[in-house]
Amino acid sequence: MANFRQMALKEAATHLPARFYEDKRPVSEYFGQNVFDLEKMRRYLSQTAFEAVQAAVDQGKKIDRPIANEIATAMKTWAIEMGATHYTHLFQPLTGTTAEKHEAFVTVKNGKPFERFSGSALVQQEPDASSFPSGGLRNTFEARGYSAWDPTSPVFILDGTLCIPSVFVSYTGEALDMKVPNLRSLQALNSAATEVAKLFDSSVKSITVNLGIEQEYFLVDEALYNARPDLRLCDRTVIGHTSAKDQQLSDHYFGAIPSRVACFMKDFETEAYKLGIELSTRHNEVAPNQFECAPVFCEATKAIDQNMLLMIVMHKVAEKHHLKVIFHEKPFDGVNGSGKHVNWSMMTNTGVNLLSPGKTPTKNLQFLTFYAAVAKGVYDHNYLLMSSICTLDNSWRLGGHEAPPSVMSIFSGSTLSQIFEGIMNMKDVDDPKAASSIKMVSSIPEIMQDNTDRNRTSPFAFTGNRFEFRAVGSSMNCACATYVINSIVAESLWKFKAEVDELEAAGENRQAAILATVRKFLRESKDIMFEGNGYSKEWAEEAARRGLKSVNDIPEAYKSFLQEDSIQMFSSIGVLSKAEVEARYEVFNELYVKKLQIEARLIGDICLNHVIPAAVSYQNILIKSIQGSKDVFGDEYKSLCRADMDTYKKISNHVNQLSADVASLVDARKKANKVENMAERAKLYSTEVLGYMMKVRKSADYLEMLVDDELWPLPKYRELLFF
Ligand code: ADP
Ligand code: MG
Repeated sequence: MANFRQMALKEAATHLPARFYEDKRPVSEYFGQNVFDLEKMRRYLSQTAFEAVQAAVDQGKKIDRPIANEIATAMKTWAIEMGATHYTHLFQPLTGTTAEKHEAFVTVKNGKPFERFSGSALVQQEPDASSFPSGGLRNTFEARGYSAWDPTSPVFILDGTLCIPSVFVSYTGEALDMKVPNLRSLQALNSAATEVAKLFDSSVKSITVNLGIEQEYFLVDEALYNARPDLRLCDRTVIGHTSAKDQQLSDHYFGAIPSRVACFMKDFETEAYKLGIELSTRHNEVAPNQFECAPVFCEATKAIDQNMLLMIVMHKVAEKHHLKVIFHEKPFDGVNGSGKHVNWSMMTNTGVNLLSPGKTPTKNLQFLTFYAAVAKGVYDHNYLLMSSICTLDNSWRLGGHEAPPSVMSIFSGSTLSQIFEGIMNMKDVDDPKAASSIKMVSSIPEIMQDNTDRNRTSPFAFTGNRFEFRAVGSSMNCACATYVINSIVAESLWKFKAEVDELEAAGENRQAAILATVRKFLRESKDIMFEGNGYSKEWAEEAARRGLKSVNDIPEAYKSFLQEDSIQMFSSIGVLSKAEVEARYEVFNELYVKKLQIEARLIGDICLNHVIPAAVSYQNILIKSIQGSKDVFGDEYKSLCRADMDTYKKISNHVNQLSADVASLVDARKKANKVENMAERAKLYSTEVLGYMMKVRKSADYLEMLVDDELWPLPKYRELLFF
């Protein structure tokens, strides 16, 4: 009888390239058709209501109930015309995923059915929230939780349901989600950055953050995925020997996109376009079966909501293609993991990118100001910023030799580095020369050299007119990373402003006061600047000398949230209260423990129920063959069966080791589970439980190499990673 793996391989072979969401119209004709965007609002709303929404989006103004009623009616009319039957608030709980609870529009009154959707249903819902992680916030205050419409993000239709982007808060208004702190941080940064920008241009009224979120992912055939309990439950292979060939040849990176994948990409892009997501790039990534897509950057809230939506859409569309999208940061050992590179910049309402150096950065005091403020913020809170992206899943990837290192640094590029050196040492520096052309072959048009070089080994790299936070994990809601960046930069900008004010009050002219503060900030954050190879051993040592803390243990890193300076920073700019930070800390640890507990149980189960039985089956075959030899050849069997006897013994050794390690793993888990304090429990998981998991995996992977391929029950890396 064929085992699961063989059946899955057979089924996978029948999955062929096909399109399911094809739309022959030009994209421009259906782009945004499923979004209740400004243009549709203009059509469906009165002028007063339209202006109220716009004021909410642009200036954060409140929308009152009568207007909300009108907006709800208009949304309902549009949604029903589009064939929607339900509506839901869509919120982003601390689990890092999204949550939805659908309600039908239809109600029956006096025997007559009609569709209903009121302003209050639009504005707030009360999902039974008791099961979402709250870090004790709801126990302390009130058990209720509310989701509330976020008018800054447009509603849309997905699978016949009107989805309303929402925040999720406790009865007394504490944030229970990822969105609230992000919205607050955007307001905080807006206030601080506007004040500083006004030093240069008094007409600046507001500042927005722009995000361009690159999304990496793996694709695996659904049949093979389903034949692996670890992928099904954790999106990660907890065991699995590396494939002889994986990414050594770099032949997958930017390679021709396989037809089956190209069909999937076109299909999810079609759906994404209808949802107003402006996807612009796609390519093969470094690891086999790893890919990337990126939309054009846009305002932060929209960018994050659209990224969460994109992940949902990709999952749904993949089903049609008998594919599974894996957003996990490190689904396969030994090959590259996946990130979500967050490109972050600030723009004034007058359309100026505050991080654009222009052609003459030495004279662009505004650019230097904002750069220095970011650098100082990142330096002051470097460990917190690094910790903000540390989840169990991302921890499998960070610090690996293809992923950002687990210590924070900023890469500026040689041109800017020289300029900063000059400013710090009070020496004149020249602006970069006009871009020079590169000569190649006479038939090829001339190309221009960039002034900024690139560094793929930096977790926080300046890339010309924005910072790219590369350490964020591919499965994460990047709101967490974003609110931390926004907050530390907001705090830093307030400090900058205070310094300049003080110097001006002491009689310094403004230009000189600003330049002096830029110099001070650059000098103070010098240690965060690193231009070299972030993967090297030398950097790890150098970083330690500079006092930059590396994240080596996740529960330990979470403590950075509880540091006095972190709590002070979050609360002083109104992003998170002390109670909210403490609640988050609790949730981080809780999620870490729960996820690792699942993985630890799973690896134990797989070893006992799949690996060891397969190994023993093979031993039975071997022993029969050895016995047969002995019967036929007598004593000669010893030389004839040397290899088989050797394999038999090796398998016995690994099986014995594996059983013992699984038993120790179970004990370690039980011991950890007895510890009441969540942070202490997490610590035990990160040291003892994790340690045994590694040992268990080692034996299991040895056995994969020893056991007859026909008997091995789980799809192998070479089958999962190559279509
Ligand atoms: P790469 O992989 O070379 O870094 P990609 O094209 O994959 O580049 O992604 C770059 C991302 O950065 C895109 O989403 C792009 O829209 C975004 N981006 C470009 N300029 C800015 C900016 N000023 N602010 C924020 N994001 C930006
Ligand atoms: Mg890219």
